[in-house]
Amino acid sequence: MTGSTHAVVVGGGLAGMLAAAVLARHLDGVTVVERDRLPGGPELRKGLPQARHAHILWSGGARAMDSVLPETTGRLLAAGAHHVGVPQRMVTLTALGWQHRFPATEYIIGASRALIDWVIRDQALAEPGVTLLDDAEVVEVCGGPGGVTGARVRRRDDGTTALLAADLVVDATGRGSRLKSWTAGTGALPAVEEEIVDTGLGYATRVYQAPAGAGDFPIVALYADYRRPVPGRNGLLLPIEGDRWIVTLSGTRGASPATDEGEFDAFVRSLRHPVIAELLTLAEPISPVYRTRSTANRRTHYERAGSWPEGLIVLGDALASFNPVYGHGMCAAAHCAAALDAALRRDGLRPGLAWSAQRAMCAIVDDPWILATSQDIYYPDCYATTTDPRLTHEAAMRRQFAELVTGIALREPVVNAALSAVTATSAPATRFEDEEIVSAIRRGPQLPPLEDPPLTSEELSAVGYEPGRALK
Ligand SMILES: Cc1cc2nc3c(=O)[nH]c(=O)nc-3n(C[C@H](O)[C@H](O)[C@H](O)COP(=O)(O)OP(=O)(O)OC[C@H]3O[C@@H](n4cnc5c(N)ncnc54)[C@H](O)[C@@H]3O)c2cc1C
Repeated sequence: MTGSTHAVVVGGGLAGMLAAAVLARHLDGVTVVERDRLPGGPELRKGLPQARHAHILWSGGARAMDSVLPETTGRLLAAGAHHVGVPQRMVTLTALGWQHRFPATEYIIGASRALIDWVIRDQALAEPGVTLLDDAEVVEVCGGPGGVTGARVRRRDDGTTALLAADLVVDATGRGSRLKSWTAGTGALPAVEEEIVDTGLGYATRVYQAPAGAGDFPIVALYADYRRPVPGRNGLLLPIEGDRWIVTLSGTRGASPATDEGEFDAFVRSLRHPVIAELLTLAEPISPVYRTRSTANRRTHYERAGSWPEGLIVLGDALASFNPVYGHGMCAAAHCAAALDAALRRDGLRPGLAWSAQRAMCAIVDDPWILATSQDIYYPDCYATTTDPRLTHEAAMRRQFAELVTGIALREPVVNAALSAVTATSAPATRFEDEEIVSAIRRGPQLPPLEDPPLTSEELSAVGYEPGRALK
């Protein structure tokens, strides 16, 4: 490669900004093209509608973000985000029962999505060589079967278009990626298979001012029992900056929570346990109810492409998006950005770089993909276009193993640590093959099952909560 090197990153969300920060260290210049006019702080915006809903940031993803932008976790915590040890500071009802609160082996950062985006964006845009072109959208990716050469950009204020030449074009436009149509005229993108597993999940979210004394209150998560042949209902109470609780409810096809505030409250009360409903009687609602249905698992198998154009990279939700209940989208985006960095360190900007980076990213999304879809396919009326043997003829055997592991993890710390590490994307799913974990699985549960949510008396009195009284 000779002369000055340049990348165009399409989409200035989480994946795009992380990718831009990585690319700035290996190329001379990076232009981030973003359709929205990006706010100068942690604010909601049109192109990121999911930011209204609870976003769990697991430790594996947080560490990957820190590896790209080292101040991320520190800045989130300084802005009031919560560092929540898991399973220690988490009260969870799984399909198979309540989780014992073993000492923390992983953590979740409790922050609003707007804050997470802002902290990433502010650091990425401060990287030397990164330029933001916002209020502008990509309408075409240029090049041919051999490789991409740039992107055509349209300014939204006056409609003028311009060609940005690039050695690398990165699609980070999220779930709504139109890469196929942008490259349609050029033949740059080979035909690839797409898989969808869609439970029809609806989301509804409301933000509350937490009661005084709620500073260290745990996350509370109530999950559906996917083994029952009825639509699943989930509830999550996540402490975020500003002494707030963000409460997200979700229901699979046939049990979607409504926008109406009364129906929101009724849905909370219909969860498998009243703990969130009771806690909310102590909190002050400070937002309307927001809804979304943009929750399908969708994956494009670029790794199966027979050929790949030089200079094209796809990551974040544009590559694979997951049922958000599992909280893996941001982690996958962060691990993909770290993989792009590793590929550039290893290979530099040489022919074949894009393909080797793309294959690494396609491998990264496989664990979160199978984790989400292998539960989701059991919900009634789940729509699936998949030929993955793990979701078809191997599904029953895999489900048996998953239930064995999750059942033991509720009551056994070694298996729990392995499950937490995989869930947090800190370890691959092959962790369950380690000898130590296999022996612990063989030993079985060490503690009796819990009958009630394991809240401590200090936590109850800190917020003035008396279980069973509030709703009477
Ligand atoms: C309801 C909901 C809840 C979620 N909860 C969690 C959670 O708890 N934990 C978790 O880890 N993940 C969660 N996710 C997933 C997470 O939001 C995504 O994985 C993450 O946003 C992916 O980042 P991205 O940058 O790929 O896409 P996005 O964040 O969607 O960003 C895409 C960007 O591209 C821009 N854009 C689009 N088209 C163009 C164009 N033509 N030109 C220029 N710019 C364009 C958009 O404006 C946007 O800024 C949730 C998702 C949803 C829908």
